[in-house]
Amino acid sequence: MRPALDPILKKDELTRDDIITLLDIDDPAEESALFERAYEVKQRHVGTKVYFRGLIELSNICVKNCFYCGIRRGNRAVDRYALSEEEVLEAARFAVTARYGSVVIQSGERQDDEFICYIERLVGKVKEISDGKLGITLSLGEQSEATYRRWYAAGAHRYLLRIETSNAALYKTLHPDDHSFEARVEALRTLYRLGYQVGTGVMIGLPGQTTADLADDIAFFKKMDVAMIGMGPFIPHHDTPLADAIPGWREHKELHLRRALRMIAVTRIQLRDINIASTTALQAIDETGREMGLLAGANIIMPNLTDTQYRTGYQLYDDKPCMDENATMCAACLERRITSIGETVGYGEWGDSPHFLNAKKQH
Ligand code: SAM
Ligand code: SF4
Repeated sequence: MRPALDPILKKDELTRDDIITLLDIDDPAEESALFERAYEVKQRHVGTKVYFRGLIELSNICVKNCFYCGIRRGNRAVDRYALSEEEVLEAARFAVTARYGSVVIQSGERQDDEFICYIERLVGKVKEISDGKLGITLSLGEQSEATYRRWYAAGAHRYLLRIETSNAALYKTLHPDDHSFEARVEALRTLYRLGYQVGTGVMIGLPGQTTADLADDIAFFKKMDVAMIGMGPFIPHHDTPLADAIPGWREHKELHLRRALRMIAVTRIQLRDINIASTTALQAIDETGREMGLLAGANIIMPNLTDTQYRTGYQLYDDKPCMDENATMCAACLERRITSIGETVGYGEWGDSPHFLNAKKQH
């Protein structure tokens, strides 16, 4: 290990240069030292309990056209679907029985009244059938303040909206002209102001993204004072404008995975007491990617509750794993994976981040 690395790994507060040095690690022994340090910080600040957020992929209908996403409006090869109220409630009932603390309702973006009312009703019903026990996270893109207010009043208390990259110029290259970086940042601010536990995140390994961009992403997470981070590798989807944007992606996919894991580790070291998800995109590259994420500092997993018949319809990127595993199989497999690395599952708990709970106490 380089002698210069040891003092960096002992620091409580990293500089931008330290972060870049850590993200650029190439040597396996140095990388292991980074993951060990991140795990130590995780144990100290959030413990080794993993919290489940059951993921309901509500619909792949989207008004947006992000260049990286498999369900973008312009992809005509996708069969569009939307789950019925009963199908969502069925998934929520499974989450109650399996004692998942929370569910995440995620979807392509829509801002029409029908959609807004549908979500409002769904949130209320999920609360009702779970006796208020299930925490509800929404991940439904950019909405007006009035809509966010309505959904909060209906019972949603967390919102996941990735910034995708904190570099405004890079953001512009990944989206059509009618998508706005500033509007996305403003949406995050609004959510925070309304009292949501805000989650954000980025894709790691985007075309044109530098290590300095990733370091700035971590600074952005800190500045926005978020409670949770969900981030994972960018994985090309064959039917999108970015399908071939990273030449040789497949041959080098292990490197992409390792960089994403280093990003999780450095984020844990720098932000300490927030929740960090070990995302499915990690598992799309390596079968054990999500366990690797937990060992690099993540503490949240989002098991998929969507009925298998819809999973091919919600393919954001190629090689999405567990396409044919129903929710029961998913639950059993995950518990096995988690206990195999010596961690436990926080069954029946919301698992709010200590960061959010501490901030609440101070208000
Ligand atoms: N439509 C909402 C939004 O964009 O916030 C929520 C659903 S969207 C599909 C959820 C996330 O999928 C996005 O924030 C993006 O980071 C991720 N995603 C989309 N395409 C991806 C890709 N090719 N590789 C990795 N992640 C991708
Ligand atoms: Fe739609 Fe979200 Fe995909 Fe963008 S990332 S196209 S908003 S589903």
